[in-house]
Amino acid sequence: MQQTALEEPDHIVELRRQLRRFVEQKAPRDKRRAWDRAHDWPRHLFRDLADMGLCALTVPEEYGGQGQDIVAAVAVIEELSRAGTFLAGPYIHCAFYGGMNIAENGSPAQKAEFLPQLAKGELLFAYGLSEPNVGGDLSSVETRARIDGDAIVVNGAKRWCTGADWADYIYCLVNSDPQAPKRRALSFLLIPARAPGVTVTPMDHVNLRYTASCDVHFDDVRLPLTAVVGGREKWCQGWGMLAGRALDVEKLEVAAVTFGIAQAAVEDAWAYAQERVQFGKPICAHQAIRHKLVTARTRLEACRLMLYHAARLARDGRPCAIETSMAKLFIADTGVEIGLACQQIMGAYALSDAYDMDRHVRDLLGMPIVGGSSDMQKNNLAALWKLPA
Ligand SMILES: Cc1cc2nc3c(=O)[nH]c(=O)nc-3n(C[C@H](O)[C@H](O)[C@H](O)COP(=O)(O)OP(=O)(O)OC[C@H]3O[C@@H](n4cnc5c(N)ncnc54)[C@H](O)[C@@H]3O)c2cc1C
Repeated sequence: MQQTALEEPDHIVELRRQLRRFVEQKAPRDKRRAWDRAHDWPRHLFRDLADMGLCALTVPEEYGGQGQDIVAAVAVIEELSRAGTFLAGPYIHCAFYGGMNIAENGSPAQKAEFLPQLAKGELLFAYGLSEPNVGGDLSSVETRARIDGDAIVVNGAKRWCTGADWADYIYCLVNSDPQAPKRRALSFLLIPARAPGVTVTPMDHVNLRYTASCDVHFDDVRLPLTAVVGGREKWCQGWGMLAGRALDVEKLEVAAVTFGIAQAAVEDAWAYAQERVQFGKPICAHQAIRHKLVTARTRLEACRLMLYHAARLARDGRPCAIETSMAKLFIADTGVEIGLACQQIMGAYALSDAYDMDRHVRDLLGMPIVGGSSDMQKNNLAALWKLPA
């Protein structure tokens, strides 16, 4: 589907061209449907993407990366997400949960150890933030870490820890001092996902089925003090990491997935509306369908402008907490509107296994919830704009 010009640099235009071809050839619809049913993603294709150097796009050059080209990394997510989350998901676990977070928050020793491997796509991280009693209110996490001599001991439970069953490390938010005020009690730990005392139980869900998200229990998990993200001196300093640049970029990563999926939904509906004939003409000639298609495509364009405006600010190291929150809020909510409109256009066939529309809609419905809900983004924006409460 032809888009308006976005003035992208040549290397991103070329990247998109390569990825479109890769996705068309390697991730056709029958494979996507099989991965969706199996809750699984193709390891060998992720290896091919890593060999193309894509995981290096969030890693600084001195650690074997390409210098944190956030716009290019966002474009990678967008292109991969046009085929669902089966390739975009693992890419995010490596380049963003791993590369971006360690580059921003890791100690010099952690950067030296992990970033070269992450740049090559050899390590995958899972995000351990949510818990059974904690969703948006992350400063209230109950997973407890205490220092015992030269070790850290972790007890507690994480929920929705996507990828914990195959990731190498869980990037885990813990309460490290129950006596301290909440935001001064948080630390991030790098917990090996197969350390003694870690139990992982996959759970079923309808969206983001590149894998099964997991319940994780920590029972007296013992870690060295070097497991504190940022090093021992960053004990109890997790809140700053949660609210910093890595978070700004994380909002973009969810927005980029949404945008890629919404784009695929519009493309599918656009093509279907020209093929399906009712009352003697293609349904795209009926005004109700025409208007839905044009509105969806216009909304898509607004999403694109917001996403890449915020991504350019993040790439250039400029303040972008407001722009990334607006992009996450607008694109996630608009993605749902686009998905539902496209579903209507395709009538009963949107609900059948013959098309990808049911998966597009299932994935889009979750986007205003994951990665900081739309309500939380509105709260953030009201605070950033200093609206009296
Ligand atoms: C498929 C899937 C994969 C996931 N993967 C991960 C992962 O890898 N790692 C991870 O840590 N988490 C993961 N999550 C969890 C996700 O990040 C949470 O669902 C999200 O943070 C919201 O938490 P909650 O669903 O518990 O909602 P809650 O926080 O309980 O909120 C419920 C509703 O109340 C609203 N609400 C809550 N507080 C306020 C407030 N102060 N003001 C206004 N409205 C409010 C919310 O917006 C929401 O609509 C995943 C979730 C899914 C579905």
